[in-house]
Amino acid sequence: MSRTATWTILGSGGGEAAPDRASSGHLLETPETSILFDCGDGVTGSFLRSGKRYEEVDTIIVSHTHPDHICGLSFFLQQLYLARRLRELAVYLPAEAVAGVRSALALQYLFVERFGFPVRFIGLKDNQSIPCNGASIIPHLNTHLTAHRGQPWAAGVENTGESYSFEMVYRTLRFAYSGDIGSLDDLEFCAGCRSLFVESTHIRLPELYARAESWRIRRLVLLHICPGFDTGGEVTGGFSGEVLPAEDGLVVPLDR
Ligand SMILES: [Zn+2]
Repeated sequence: MSRTATWTILGSGGGEAAPDRASSGHLLETPETSILFDCGDGVTGSFLRSGKRYEEVDTIIVSHTHPDHICGLSFFLQQLYLARRLRELAVYLPAEAVAGVRSALALQYLFVERFGFPVRFIGLKDNQSIPCNGASIIPHLNTHLTAHRGQPWAAGVENTGESYSFEMVYRTLRFAYSGDIGSLDDLEFCAGCRSLFVESTHIRLPELYARAESWRIRRLVLLHICPGFDTGGEVTGGFSGEVLPAEDGLVVPLDR
């Protein structure tokens, strides 16, 4: 476990596969806890390459149920089972998806109630803090899936378009993870955050840089990078902070 708070990029890619990037996955580590945000394809391999240990993960938080954020979850859970984990694991995900994800795991012959460790699936709630050892994590509902709201998942079951961004506080540090968003308006809560880990697919970078300056962000880490992505190079639109394009394995100390 880390001595300071760090954010490790396990998957810097997005919905379009890239040979050198896993899809979305990030590990927040503090001396007290270890939290995996999103678990897309390739995240487990990246987790192992980063020298992480399954036992140390206390909590998994899934921002929304697009495949590039959740399709590695069942495989990751399978690894915890095979590693003979004993400690309870909390898995937070959109409340609308809890029952469906449990069914999908059972379809894969992963019967979590028979695991040697308790798995608690908990629905995320807008603005309701997630209990974590020493860190505060607040989900903020965003508009990434709003356009798909109300489409039927199955007979009589409509989705509600749940997708979240996250505001976090650890000691004096305040930072945020965007997940996938619908527009930069979703991230207004980031004002005053030191670091913003932000997806780069559903936004325009010049607008991001201008907004980040007005929010007094000091460091932008660009995530969710699809093939052919152009970071904009030196064009940072007046943003006076640091811009860091993510790579798999990158460790970002949160206190600097
Ligand atoms: Zn995505």
